[in-house]
Amino acid sequence: MRHRGTTLVALVGLSAGALAAGAPASAQTTPPAKVPLAIGRGGAVATVDPDATAVGLDVLRRGGNAADAAVAAAAALGVTEPYSAGIGGGGFFVYYDAASGEVSTIDGRETAPLAMRADSFLDADGEPMDFTTAVRSGLSVGTPGTPRTWERALEEFGTRDLEEVLDGAIGLAQDGFTVDETFRQQTAENEEKFRTFPATAELFLPGGRLPEVGSVFRNPDLARTYRLLAQEGVDAFYSGDLADDVVATAQDPAEAPGTPDVPAGLLTRTDLAAYAALDREPTHVRYRGLDVYGMAPPSSGGSTVAEALNQLERYRLSSMRVTDAVHTYLEAGALAFADRNAYVGDDAYVQVPLQELLSDGFATERTCAIDPAVAAPKPVAAGVPDGEYGPCPAARGEVVAEGAEGTSTTHLTVADADGNIASYTLTIEATGGSGITVPGRGFILNNELTDFDFAPADITKPAPNLPAPGKRPRSSMSPTIVLDQGEPRLALGSPGGSTIITTVLQTLVGRIDGNMSLAEAISAPRSSPRNGAAVSAEPEFIEVLGDDLTARGHVFTETAEIGAATGIEFLPGGLVLAAAEPVRRGGGSAAVVRDVLDEQEVPDLAPQLADAS
Ligand code: GLU
Repeated sequence: MRHRGTTLVALVGLSAGALAAGAPASAQTTPPAKVPLAIGRGGAVATVDPDATAVGLDVLRRGGNAADAAVAAAAALGVTEPYSAGIGGGGFFVYYDAASGEVSTIDGRETAPLAMRADSFLDADGEPMDFTTAVRSGLSVGTPGTPRTWERALEEFGTRDLEEVLDGAIGLAQDGFTVDETFRQQTAENEEKFRTFPATAELFLPGGRLPEVGSVFRNPDLARTYRLLAQEGVDAFYSGDLADDVVATAQDPAEAPGTPDVPAGLLTRTDLAAYAALDREPTHVRYRGLDVYGMAPPSSGGSTVAEALNQLERYRLSSMRVTDAVHTYLEAGALAFADRNAYVGDDAYVQVPLQELLSDGFATERTCAIDPAVAAPKPVAAGVPDGEYGPCPAARGEVVAEGAEGTSTTHLTVADADGNIASYTLTIEATGGSGITVPGRGFILNNELTDFDFAPADITKPAPNLPAPGKRPRSSMSPTIVLDQGEPRLALGSPGGSTIITTVLQTLVGRIDGNMSLAEAISAPRSSPRNGAAVSAEPEFIEVLGDDLTARGHVFTETAEIGAATGIEFLPGGLVLAAAEPVRRGGGSAAVVRDVLDEQEVPDLAPQLADAS
């Protein structure tokens, strides 16, 4: 065994500080520096982008709370990360309110138009539509939920009005931001899609070309749209001229001459007028004495992370050899994904056995399928979360394949001086969404409805995630908050389609069981067990652990990068640590209101959490 005795910490290999993304040398203007780790007091912000982090921090400095700063940072991301987030999309907002000690969530997921049917993503031959065709279409545009999420978050938890909170993003859209390599690269990856739609090409390929690194990118249309929302409230998005524009664009995306017609959308004014961001109970499980809260259906994030944690709690990971611990993680991830695929969808349409999926009894029964030495052949069957759990039954459930999912999205984490925390993941689904910009309005419409399964994998098996009128497609977004004996301890989340779930799971396990700091756990090499025939894993993970795990029957496919997490942890002594991804996707940006590293020694960044042992 090549790596016997390696600690999980050693697996990280690289310190976050050493990995800060560098700015390109040839810039006309240097993009703002990205610092992936900050420690201090007075509140903290971690996002993928330094401008968005600065906007959030500014709101905290002016006395806004975590909800105010989270909405401000999200709006800024709509400017600087318009291919991952924006008012044309949706997301999930998880909030810890220090005054009440409660964790609450807002479901801002896009909804299917009322005209959508179970067969809407089938082609004329009754076959599932080509995925790329579906992405680049009006058909995949769900009713956006982000504006209502911001409204609800401010109304329920905030202390500032939308006008004040949007101010920073309006300035950024009006005055511009400096293009970095990530923005240029994402534009390049989308170039063909963007050229399909003249309004998109005009905005994101200025002068017909990719934006230059170091150039200033302005979006006065979006500044105008944000001003409208600031002045009139988000009703202006769901009714009135802007709503007319959104509907007209989704129904009839104007393609460039000479490009093939794209499938038309079903969105109507009625869909927009009926949209509501929903308050939902968070998912909750105890893990090694900590309380882990996540997002309930229609996201599968909370339940799948929770089920895997419940399984892993049955093992003393911290005292296992690394390969044994990672083997157990890979098996638990696959089992939890089998159950996710079989049972989780929008619970207004399907009966999701949520309490059972979160139960210790079910987790114990599921771990019977984990052989400590040998990987189970994948895919594994789903379990039966029926409340009657015996010792180690034979697997009786169905095998349900996972549908195609994108790899975009963004997660931001904010904490304020009072200990309130916002953990917010938002998206327009694919990087670049549908590619369809609402002309003159400065934002791209989502393609979130491609998160539905286009057809049942097998008509004899459960299919909780088929399209239906008004239904919310199943998500994997996993904004998470962890409390320790009622006190806020940490919060995190990630982009990455269904790999979001395993990124959050692996990061939590790295922090809680692996004796890593949050920053180390975020940067550690990743694998993503999702019950596929092969586990996607990063090259460094395969290099270090691949031989030992392959010998146990695990199969890996190499993926350059998985996820790009951000998180915040409250450390002893009233300190707060903010961590962003140091390398993946060009790195992120963490900041605190008052940096303390000038004043004091570096504190212990990985204090033991609760009874995690
Ligand atoms: N649409 C995905 C979800 O809700 C997120 C997009 C992504 O991260 O690729 O799970």
